[in-house]
Amino acid sequence: MSISANTVSLEKIIALCKRRGFVYQAAEIYGGLNGVYDFGPLGAAMKANIRAAWTKALKQSGKDVVFFEGAILGPEAEWEASGHLEGFHDPMVDCTNCKHRFRADHIDLAKSCPDCGLKAWTSVRNFNLMFKTAVGATAESTSHAYLRPETAQAIFVNFKNIMTSSRSKIPFGIAQIGKAFRNEITPRQFLFRTREFEQMELEYFCQGAHALQDLEFWLEQRKQFYNNLQIDMTKIRFREHASDELAHYSSRCLDVEYEFPFGWKELEGIAYRGDYDLSRHTKFSGKDLAVFDEESKQSFMPHVVECSVGVDRLFFTLLFDAYREEILDGETRVVLKLAPEIAPVKAAILPLQKQLNSQAELLYKQLSLNTDYNLDLDNSGSIGKRYRRQDEIGTPLCITYDFESEADQTVTVRNRDTMVQTRVKISELKNILDQALRKN
Ligand code: ATP
Repeated sequence: MSISANTVSLEKIIALCKRRGFVYQAAEIYGGLNGVYDFGPLGAAMKANIRAAWTKALKQSGKDVVFFEGAILGPEAEWEASGHLEGFHDPMVDCTNCKHRFRADHIDLAKSCPDCGLKAWTSVRNFNLMFKTAVGATAESTSHAYLRPETAQAIFVNFKNIMTSSRSKIPFGIAQIGKAFRNEITPRQFLFRTREFEQMELEYFCQGAHALQDLEFWLEQRKQFYNNLQIDMTKIRFREHASDELAHYSSRCLDVEYEFPFGWKELEGIAYRGDYDLSRHTKFSGKDLAVFDEESKQSFMPHVVECSVGVDRLFFTLLFDAYREEILDGETRVVLKLAPEIAPVKAAILPLQKQLNSQAELLYKQLSLNTDYNLDLDNSGSIGKRYRRQDEIGTPLCITYDFESEADQTVTVRNRDTMVQTRVKISELKNILDQALRKN
């Protein structure tokens, strides 16, 4: 077996996602909607695993973290307070010749248009990325609302409610997974930059004097998280923001970046946000979000450390990181070496021949009842083809039911990465799965 180097490309990931139904263009039969995607059965299963891994990491952090689910729609006043109405925009420029639109900070305006080669730019305008909508049935009762461009604001707005009802004390975290929407000027690179996406955000509320120490703690946790997902850590870096990149209220901010074939790109943002958010919402709503400290008998505004990562962007990253092409007997084997925790299908049951279909189906049903793993029963095509199909969706184990199985109640278990096949007792399968998938 030989392994080809540098085989992964954006085109190959897109093709694999389409071929195997991880991801579809949204509303494809109507021509699609640019920058919006639907997730097929494998994509949905893998995203659920990503959310579960993130949630587990927070629960195992040893810190007090509570989970929350805020609304997607928010009133205009909320976005005014958060600063999004005024400042959440990207610079936009058009080519007057080919009419193509660009983010002005993504291209060199001193040069000619990368699409048509002429230099005919409009002036640069700011474009607000929020989706605005109208709420209310009649013209008189209609008011404006916005689809949230990040999940965090509902956490800040509800901070006091959550703290009181969960009886938490500073420091503690509020975590949320949910959809966010940005009318990106140029959605790019497939799932990397989309208009509808999902975020996993942790807002950690702490004393200002402890915030930078808490930031260090979460940096370490996040490093551990990526390591546990078995990402190639030589392709992960924590890039410190330069002082001119920092928001005025932030004194430290880092991007977790991954090295894609198209360069180092942000995967997650980790930021010390000071007390900016709670102070702004206090000021704009007139409701005091400060906390009373029993020890000093004084009120103080908690500070915030934020960790924010996109589910879809992490999904995309994991596909890049896991993708391999291996040459086997002159043929290419595409294999996704995903961590078992992330793999959408944990094991596939394969009857060797058609005559064994019903016995294999029985085994599939029994194993599904005895475990909570997402299993697949695959009985079409040659066994070699079925192994390849499971390899390219990252299934860690293939269980083959053959003619001996009936006689001695054994099956072969094939390992995705080593391709080694081991004969095991059917009665041992649950333990073997638990061990291989590290769930004891
Ligand atoms: P970028 O500079 O790439 O536009 P950002 O700095 O505006 O990103 P944040 O506001 O920090 O992004 O969002 C936190 C995380 O949410 C990002 O690290 C990314 O994982 C995810 N995210 C943000 N925008 C998008 C998008 N348009 N599509 C997919 N994921 C996104």
